[in-house]
Formats: sequence, C-alpha cells, structure tokens
Amino acid sequence: MYFIANWKMNPLTIVEARKIFASTKKYASNFRKTKVIVAPPALFLGDLLPKIKNSKLDLAIQNIYPGETGSFTGEVSSFMAKKAGIKYAIIGHSERRAMGETNDIISQKLKNALEIGMTPILCLGEKTRSDSGAYLSELEKQIKESLDGISKNNINSIIFAYEPVWAIGQKDGNALGANEIFEMVVLIRKVLTEKYDRHVAESVLILYGGSVSSKNIEQIIKDGRVDGVLVGHLSLYVEEVKSILEVLNNLSPRGKKK
Ligand code: PEP
Repeated sequence: MYFIANWKMNPLTIVEARKIFASTKKYASNFRKTKVIVAPPALFLGDLLPKIKNSKLDLAIQNIYPGETGSFTGEVSSFMAKKAGIKYAIIGHSERRAMGETNDIISQKLKNALEIGMTPILCLGEKTRSDSGAYLSELEKQIKESLDGISKNNINSIIFAYEPVWAIGQKDGNALGANEIFEMVVLIRKVLTEKYDRHVAESVLILYGGSVSSKNIEQIIKDGRVDGVLVGHLSLYVEEVKSILEVLNNLSPRGKKK
C-alpha cells in the first residue's frame, strides 16, 4: 500500500519542513505495511535526504526537467535528482498542467525518468465532470498521449495516480465517491489492456488523490480498489498523517480480504 505526501509549495520554512518530516518518518516506521513517500519542495530535498538513510521512507521530487545539465534556468534535472538519491518523481500533476504542461511534455518526462531509473508517479485526471461523459474520453486521451512511445516492459515501473482535478484541495466530503473511483480504475486498466495487455493492466499500481482524509480513506481503498493514496494539503498536518497511516495499516491494497 502506498501513501504519497505531496507538500506542494509548503511549508514556508525548513524548520517547519524538518518537523513535519520527522513526525512522518516516525509514523512510517510505526505503520510499516505502507510505503511512505514524501514530496517536499525541491529546495528542502537536500536537507531531508540524509534523514531517509536506514528508514522506510523515500523522497520524491515534485517535477523534473528531462535531461542532465544545461542552460535551463529554474529547472532541476531528473539526472541531478537521481544522483542525489531521489527515487521517485511526480510527473504531470494537474497544478503543473495548469501552468501549461502538455501530455507531450509529460510523455517526454516519463520516458526520461524511466530511462534513468527513477519511478515516475504519473498524475492523471479530468478537469470537470458532466453528464455527457466527456471526462471518460479526456482521461483516455491523457493516458494514451502520456504513454506514447513507452514500452510494455516499462509500464509496471510507473505508479499511476488518478486525481480528478475538481476534487483536489477540497474538504473530504468532496472527494470522488469510492464507486466512481472504481469506475475510473477500471477505465485506466481497460485502456492499458488495449494498449499493452491484460496482465500488465492488472498488475499496475493505481492510487487515488483528491481530498483524501482519515475519514474517507477506508472506503476509498476498499470500494475504490486502489493501491494507495496521494495526499496533498492534509499531508502537512501530522496528526492527520498519523490517522491516515493507522487506517491504511489495517487495510490491504484494493481492499482485498487478508
Ligand atoms: C494533490 O495535490 O495531488 C492532492 C491530492 O491534493 P489534496 O489532497 O489537497 O486534494
């Protein structure tokens, strides 16, 4: 089971970041059945990296530039992140898509991360929902275009995070319903079956993100049948992180009976 903490552009200071990180690390070692990955702002990664030694926890970078070094002001390359010891990279988060990141750019970043041996956390999700069902084709297009040129052998190295954009950063009552999450998980696996094969589609990890809390997480895992969650704003509240990990520790991925 996976718990990915996306801190976004928070907290304000390294002192606060260290505190949140220390508590998250403690809970990750108390609730060992869940793989915990923290994605802090890039500025804090260097400070936090030595603290993951001999721990169950890993760090992710929130974005990468697909390359090594060069004249790309403001960017951090996948190569630098990997060399520094960061294994995971969030790619295609909706907040970056809103800044102009296209499926084509996301596909380049994905390929690059895979090539250098990082595990990409690929974020996908529709912007809005309507009765017309257009959100289904929107998701399908995102999957197909993001995975363009990616071979079957690499698919299991990607963690998929389904995050309906309209459900991000809300109160937990506004998360997508667990049955609807399951419908989207089925859709992702169907698209992957058509593009690759059933075996690959079944084994791939799919997480849900969008206003997850300790209150709705059990149902999301059990009925949404996901392999874990990506949590944004509440991952900065350590008591909530503890409660979420406590619940996750008693569940099996996809809500399977133990
Ligand atoms: C996110 O940032 O990907 C996210 C899921 O945020 P939140 O948990 O705040 O909805």
